[in-house]
Amino acid sequence: MLTFVDEETLRKVAEVVGSEDAIKVIEILKDSNEITDDEIANKTEIRLNTVRKILYKLYDHSLVSLRRSRDENTGWFIFHWKLQPDQLEGFILNQKRRVLEKLQTRLNYEKSHDFYYCHTPGCKRVPFEEAMELVFRCPTCTKPLMHFDNSKIIEILNKKVEQLRKELGE
Ligand SMILES: [Zn+2]
Repeated sequence: MLTFVDEETLRKVAEVVGSEDAIKVIEILKDSNEITDDEIANKTEIRLNTVRKILYKLYDHSLVSLRRSRDENTGWFIFHWKLQPDQLEGFILNQKRRVLEKLQTRLNYEKSHDFYYCHTPGCKRVPFEEAMELVFRCPTCTKPLMHFDNSKIIEILNKKVEQLRKELGE
């Protein structure tokens, strides 16, 4: 009934939704046709509030659909959730594109600037223009700012960009 959702996909979605609990929720959704938040909370032993937060985040990204019915006894609304597995792939592609854009912006920034750094952990690198204004003194620890070789950073960013481009078939 449902298209195959692999572990990698689940992990990526969970990363975006921002919790390990999201993986459990998606796994339950994956194995059900339609399920209520109560049932998910019972099956996963995750607090109902947390389950609902995860579900609404997924809903925001159109990864789940929602149907409402009324409980005949209590008159309260019951929410029935359903995974939209065909949306998952598109969602992940979009995420990857977004990450790629960010990486490319960062890479361009690294390539087009010369950086200076005091080599003190916790202090920041500053681009050349700013270092000049600071008369090559670190604004945080006042130690001298030395040229910082960012070729390693560029190399790592390049690799990540290449990898994502490959994955996106660019
Ligand atoms: Zn410093």
